[in-house]
Amino acid sequence: MECKDLHRVINRLVDGELPPATKSEAEAHAAGCADCGPLLAAERQWRQAVRRAGTYYTAPELVRRRIEAMARKQSAAAPARSAWPGWRIAASLLVTMGLSSAITAYVTTPSSTSLMEQEVVASHVRSLQMDHITDVTSSNEHTVKPWFHGKLDYAPPVEDYAAQGFPLLGGRLEYLDHENVAALVYRHAQHPINVFILPSDAADSAPKAMVDHGYNILRWTKGGMTFWAVSDVDAANLDDLVKLMRERKPESEHEPVK
Ligand SMILES: [Zn+2]
Repeated sequence: MECKDLHRVINRLVDGELPPATKSEAEAHAAGCADCGPLLAAERQWRQAVRRAGTYYTAPELVRRRIEAMARKQSAAAPARSAWPGWRIAASLLVTMGLSSAITAYVTTPSSTSLMEQEVVASHVRSLQMDHITDVTSSNEHTVKPWFHGKLDYAPPVEDYAAQGFPLLGGRLEYLDHENVAALVYRHAQHPINVFILPSDAADSAPKAMVDHGYNILRWTKGGMTFWAVSDVDAANLDDLVKLMRERKPESEHEPVK
């Protein structure tokens, strides 16, 4: 196994989803590789932190529901009295837990969208660190687009915007949200831009801007695909690229293969 193979399966490795043979190969590579060893350790730490945050996050919600149910029962049983005597204590406990969960949520934001946001940023950073930003290096959409054929069960739209200041560098397979997805790589000045394209059942939506670890992110859905553009480029520049991508191509040319 080479570095690029490990990068492709690292999420599945950390999630314990690899078949045993691939798992041992990946771990053997990481053990002997000065790049991948620390990378794998960092991914594992990160995943653990997210899992812990997820537990903190759901516990107060369960407690809240239980307390509400108890309070409802009590007030139904004794409507004249001021509900359940333990209510005040429970309420203050809830406030404390709610606060700490709000803080945890603010720091780690474990909703599915923000987990995806973290994955997108992690993939972007990894693609830069590992000097493996493209699997297919070409500014020609007629080379990059067919390269995805047979690797994905959908056909991501590919276009070069060199004339508008966003040359296409190529494409790459990524593993996000438990599936293989397309990554298109653009450049603006010296800033690389990753655009991840995933099949989606969601309705079309306008771009939503996010900032994570100093990276600008725009997410939108169009024609049965969700796009995530991420870069350290200025938000205005990222916006320009996204406008170009959204303006192009009638839906019929998206050529869904499914
Ligand atoms: Zn390696």
